[in-house]
Amino acid sequence: MKLNIKDTFNVELPADPILENSRRQVKEACFSFVTPIKTTKPAILHVSPEMLKKIGLSVSDSKSESFLKVFTGNEVLPTTKPYALCYGGHQFGNWAGQLGDGRAINLCEVEHNNERWTLQLKGAGETPYSRTADGLAVLRSSIREYLCSEAMYHLGIPTTRALSLTLTGDQVLRDIMYDGNPEYEKGAVVCRTSPSFIRFGNFEIFAARGDTPNLKKLTNYTIKHFFPHLGKPSKEIYLQFFKEVSQRSLAMVIDWQRVGFVHGVMNTDNMSILGLTIDYGPYGWLEGYDFGWTPNTTDSQFKRYKFGSQPDIVLWNLYQLANAIYPLIEEAKELETILATYRISYAMQYLKMMRSKLGLSKSEEDDSILVKDLEDNLQMAETDMTIFFRNLSNYKIGKPLEGLKIVSDAFYTESEVTEAMKGKWNEWFGGYDARLIQESIPEEERKEKMNQVNPKYVLRNYMAQLAIDDADKGDYKLIDELFIMLKKPYAEQPENQKWFAKRPDWARHKVGCSMLSCSS
Ligand code: AMP
Ligand code: MG
Repeated sequence: MKLNIKDTFNVELPADPILENSRRQVKEACFSFVTPIKTTKPAILHVSPEMLKKIGLSVSDSKSESFLKVFTGNEVLPTTKPYALCYGGHQFGNWAGQLGDGRAINLCEVEHNNERWTLQLKGAGETPYSRTADGLAVLRSSIREYLCSEAMYHLGIPTTRALSLTLTGDQVLRDIMYDGNPEYEKGAVVCRTSPSFIRFGNFEIFAARGDTPNLKKLTNYTIKHFFPHLGKPSKEIYLQFFKEVSQRSLAMVIDWQRVGFVHGVMNTDNMSILGLTIDYGPYGWLEGYDFGWTPNTTDSQFKRYKFGSQPDIVLWNLYQLANAIYPLIEEAKELETILATYRISYAMQYLKMMRSKLGLSKSEEDDSILVKDLEDNLQMAETDMTIFFRNLSNYKIGKPLEGLKIVSDAFYTESEVTEAMKGKWNEWFGGYDARLIQESIPEEERKEKMNQVNPKYVLRNYMAQLAIDDADKGDYKLIDELFIMLKKPYAEQPENQKWFAKRPDWARHKVGCSMLSCSS
């Protein structure tokens, strides 16, 4: 196994001088060196062939003893020095102080085909940032991260990725529902990959400690490696940097809204500086279209991170980042302008995205009303988002009274759809029909375009849970089946038609399907 290792983070940035792996506050450093823990009986469950290729490895490399050892943390690659990042964060709206990679250990950076990849093990043992926890991860949450991050990539959504899913052979104690009933579960490790795992929280921790010199080092490093087109750092470039981070984060959250992905824990320590979806924890996919939905049980009271709030939360998080890098700029006005622009851009881009879901390429004045009415209608009775939009592409111009029939598969309980609701739907289809007439593309072409933005297959919460239930019993076939299907989420896959279906009734209130805790 030969990787083109080109470390920069742990070479160019200040390291914690203490090498002992003990919990502590780490000051004036971006990271701490740490060695992954050895495990009892490591085994590979799945490897992403696409990601293997990206880092310059072959399928036969992935079958080697050394791959198994390295990506379960049992062997450190020669010339590399694994490390955990120091970061802080705002959790559920409050400053939480130092957090850091409590159970993530970065192995090294690899360069291949002009791309840089940091390889990181999640669940490979404790670090100075583990606080009161054990640094480990269980199989259930590792399967969820592994499958979903690769699925998001294939949906065309900016995300960190995953190279491998492995078992450690050790047992991990978890209290899933936080109700005093802990149980042993299989321990697992995912090797995650990303150009960088730097988060908003990496900047916030230095700002909170008044450590401007290190804040500057980290920002300059980030610009040099990941925003090189901006040029040599200066006050003006820091503003450009912030602007680009806000644009990338906006693009990411618009994509989430497009496919119905709810992150679940949008704390600032879970916001990538590269605008990537990061840290797949208690995330979920909308089944019934509902702005008020969140899968995260920890957030069930206030629902801070519900579907409809995600774009505003990105903005809130950008405010925290703006505050953090302010000492490098010392001028609030221009930062405020960028934040104000986010709101305007958001409204415009959201409308553009919704138009694309409806197959509208022109922009007409009343489109925002059409979209708003649609959102209201979708929330009258439980209506499956994925099925609704996918089937909508079958709509035929001139037949508004047949619209409802075309999307009726999306209703969870047909009897819930009252005559009054049907009236509203017919009215909406009337407006939609009139609007489609203003477009001049052939029906088939519109359908094709719509099917490129409205996925047919997403990782519904119950599907991940089925794969987890099987895996707990030692059967890993479904992981591979879903993995392969989710590579082509926009394609018709007749052999997978059974996954183009509403959430089954048994999953409505089942833990892991409709609700998830942060315990992982
Ligand atoms: P999360 O909300 O999962 O992104 O985690 C928030 C913080 O808790 C991060 O600093 C994580 O590294 C840390 N953390 C979560 N689970 C564990 C664990 N099992 N062991 C150590 N640290 C953890
Ligand atoms: Mg996190």
